[in-house]
Amino acid sequence: MSNYKVKLQNIKAFAYDVDGIFTDGGVLATGDGDLLRTFDSKDGFGVRMTVLKGYPTAIVTGGSSESIRKRFRGIGIPDEDIYLTSRNKVPDFLDFCQRHNLEPSQVAFVGDDLPDIPILKICGLAVCPADAVAEVKEVCDYVSLYNGGKGCVRDLVEQVLKIHGNWVFDPVAYSG
Ligand SMILES: [Mg+2]
Repeated sequence: MSNYKVKLQNIKAFAYDVDGIFTDGGVLATGDGDLLRTFDSKDGFGVRMTVLKGYPTAIVTGGSSESIRKRFRGIGIPDEDIYLTSRNKVPDFLDFCQRHNLEPSQVAFVGDDLPDIPILKICGLAVCPADAVAEVKEVCDYVSLYNGGKGCVRDLVEQVLKIHGNWVFDPVAYSG
């Protein structure tokens, strides 16, 4: 656990899978072919806090719905850091790192299923929700007490921002 605390201190950026992380993994298939997802507002606010504090943030998902892009654009993540339809996720993760002059060891990644494991193995802090698949839990530095879509993202960002002294809400910045 002490190694985990050191890793928390070294984190300069965040990257996330979406389904099973920001959601409980459920999708509602509509008649016109779109997939609807439920996002947790407290997770969203936590990510907004990291964006306002200047932490680069990436979304790396196999999902293709434009509603995913709109959700994270609304939180303040620029379009170029939102990777939709990412099947082989490592190149997208490394592209994000390169564009922001980050080493993979400086980035926390949250994933829950087999496609996330290659990133979890090279990132600086590997995190998963409590209901991640067993193979993912095995390679993670930290298994959140919270499930996907139920606060696992908020759990991580609060820990990093608090250890950096950045868990301070500024209503002026938030409204800007
Ligand atoms: Mg997933």
